[in-house]
Amino acid sequence: MALLVPSSLGDRMRSHAERTYPQECCGLLLGNIAPDGNKAIVEVWETDNVWGEDDSEPFRDADTENCTAERRYTIPPQTLLKAQKYGRDRGLQTLGFYHSHPDSVAIPSETDRRFAWAQYSYIIISVRQGKAIEFKSWQLDGDRHFQEENVSMSNEQ
Ligand SMILES: [Zn+2]
Repeated sequence: MALLVPSSLGDRMRSHAERTYPQECCGLLLGNIAPDGNKAIVEVWETDNVWGEDDSEPFRDADTENCTAERRYTIPPQTLLKAQKYGRDRGLQTLGFYHSHPDSVAIPSETDRRFAWAQYSYIIISVRQGKAIEFKSWQLDGDRHFQEENVSMSNEQ
């Protein structure tokens, strides 16, 4: 199974990650799941990284060390609801999320794992010195461990 990413949307996510460097960027993936299980991204939404703006619930029990926008990201719940409604009206599903790892590898952190949901894809973009150098997608397996997901970039929309 693969995650199909139109190259134009891949470029958009990378440029978002470069623009917000050295802060993390984050966003939403909307698209379709084919009968064969392949997921096709149709739209991406850039969302604001609201970490630090409010003491949001999912992070309340997290250790407060390293709680900066460089290390954590969170998507406002109202954005998620909006995406779900928008998708419902257009036959699109929320497929997952993307975020960047400034000056770090494109591998999920323990925090990423703890707050991940099973059915979603998690794209991570590694940004070094302002350049997006790595683009990987991850999905939880049955033991709640992240497995890398096949990413297929295409020129067709
Ligand atoms: Zn992360």
